[in-house]
Formats: sequence, C-alpha cells, structure tokens
Amino acid sequence: MPPQPLTVLLAAPRGFCAGVERAVDIVRLALKAYGPPVYVRHAIVHNVHVVAELERKGAIFVEDEAEVPEGGLLVFSAHGVAPVVRRNAQTLNLRTLDATCPLVTKVHLEAVDYSDKGLSIILVGHAGHQEVIGTTGHAPESIHLVETPEDVEALDLPDPSKVAYITQTTLSVDEANTVIDVIRRRYPQARGPRGEDICYATQNRQDATKVLARRTDLVLVVGSSHSSNSRRMVEVAVDNGAPAAYLIDDASMLRDEWFDNVHTVGLTSGASAPERLVTEVIAALRARPGGADVEVLDVVEEQMHFALPAGLRNLPVANLG
Ligand code: SF4
Repeated sequence: MPPQPLTVLLAAPRGFCAGVERAVDIVRLALKAYGPPVYVRHAIVHNVHVVAELERKGAIFVEDEAEVPEGGLLVFSAHGVAPVVRRNAQTLNLRTLDATCPLVTKVHLEAVDYSDKGLSIILVGHAGHQEVIGTTGHAPESIHLVETPEDVEALDLPDPSKVAYITQTTLSVDEANTVIDVIRRRYPQARGPRGEDICYATQNRQDATKVLARRTDLVLVVGSSHSSNSRRMVEVAVDNGAPAAYLIDDASMLRDEWFDNVHTVGLTSGASAPERLVTEVIAALRARPGGADVEVLDVVEEQMHFALPAGLRNLPVANLG
C-alpha cells in the first residue's frame, strides 16, 4: 500500500509573542538607525536562529555590560535586567535601549512594591534563568526563590503574615499552580498578583499544546533548548497525553524513526521561534513519503502588541526589511 499522507495540525497561536517581536524590532531598528555594532546584553530572545540573524547584521552579544566599549550602544534583552546593570551601564557611559518585555517589567514593579511594604517575596521560577536573575535584582533582600512545592515547604520566613509571591512569566501554568497551592496553604495571608504573572503568550501556547497533545500521535515544538517557554510546551504535551513530543531548533533535527506508526502530527513553536522555521518544518513533512496535509487548529485569538521605546518610535527608519 502506498504511504498515507500525514495529517499535520498546526497550532494557533504559536511562535513570536508581542514581547519577542518588540525586542527583535528594537535591535533591528537600532542597527538601521545607528549602524553596527549594536551590543546586546544576553541573547535578545532565547532562539539560536534569531541571534545568528542579528549577528550577521552587526549585533554583538555580550553577557556583561563591562564588555561594551565606552560610549557603545547596549540593548537590554527581553528577559529584563537588575537595576545594578543599568547603574553599571551609566557608569560606563553606555547609551542604552531597553527591550525588556513590558510583562516582565510588571513583575519587577510588583517585586519593588512588595519589598517596599516590608513583605517577604516568594519568587516561583528557575534558578539561573535571566528573567529570574533580573527580577531578583529588584528586591534582593526580600526575594526567596522556589522551584518546587518541596522548596516552599522548606521555607522559614521571618513573619508568615507578611508574605507575597510572584512568578517567572514563562513557567508551566499547571506546575506553577501546584507550587502556589502550597504557598497559599502555608501562608494563607500571602499576597499574589491580581492576574497571572505567567504571561498571556505562555498561557495561550500551552493551552494550544494541550489540544494538540490530545489529538495527535506526535507533537513537535520548534524552539531552542534554552527557551524556557518552549521547553515547558514539550512538558505540557507529554503531561497531556502526547505519545511523543520533541523540541527541535529547525527542520534538520527531524528524525525518520519518530514517524513510525504516526498518522497525525501536532506542530507548534515557542514564543521566541521565528515563523520561517515552522514553514521549513512543514516543507520537510510534506517532502516525506506520502506527503502531509496541514490543518490549522485555532485555539485562542491573539492581538497583543507592545509599543517601541520612546527613543526609537520616531526614528526616520521606515521599515525593518
Ligand atoms: S513570553 Fe511573555 S513575558 Fe516573555 S517576552 Fe513573550 S510576552 Fe513577554
């Protein structure tokens, strides 16, 4: 019997979120307006293809502001930075542009507010992640980082009636809730964000991944291994019954053996993965014996957009092509 075509369910929404779109635009615009080099502190967003494309255009990625020559132009990444980084940049006479996602800034402001009120702050997040480092730097004396319910059980806070919690924006919604449940049990008076700190894009991509997981034999998430939200999407797929789920940087990572007895493939991408990588994966699936039929699976409509920083909004560089 000739091979049957794969059915590919393509998740919507997927890929670039408003914060990533804005951060990448800031670097592209800065390169156009000021010319290279434009220094970027840390990967602007966690995707190897995005970083490589900007490097080709003249961006230089550094891990420390001290690596930038005096007077250089430095962009802070979408993950945000601690206030000490801004002070260092000022001392080094650097020009700066801030690509911190506004939804990360919102968490920074919560941390400062809770700290000013004398509360101990429990930050639910992953140790070592850039966003967590930046958020912690806004209230270093008050923040206690936890990753698991066990970490919360082990906390010994000075005054259990004066506690608040915040979260990293790109966590698994379900896992974060298991941690928050323990926080609420141990500290019933704990104050939390009015909405979720986990951002709309993380939430929507996970919701769409859950639907894919239930309806397909294999889930493919396009994204880089250091992208927190992309890795969470793979975990969400497995937790919601996907027989197999893989994180792939691009089409070159597809493996023939993944497709044994697979009829339906769910395809999605993390918030930092460009759409062209998804298009290339679809082309690779169509090129397989039997080909592939693609259906879009609309789960949530997204219309979020963030304005550019004031300094870039009125520059005479019309398009980013
Ligand atoms: S994933 Fe969420 S918090 Fe991170 S840049 Fe995108 S919108 Fe902002």
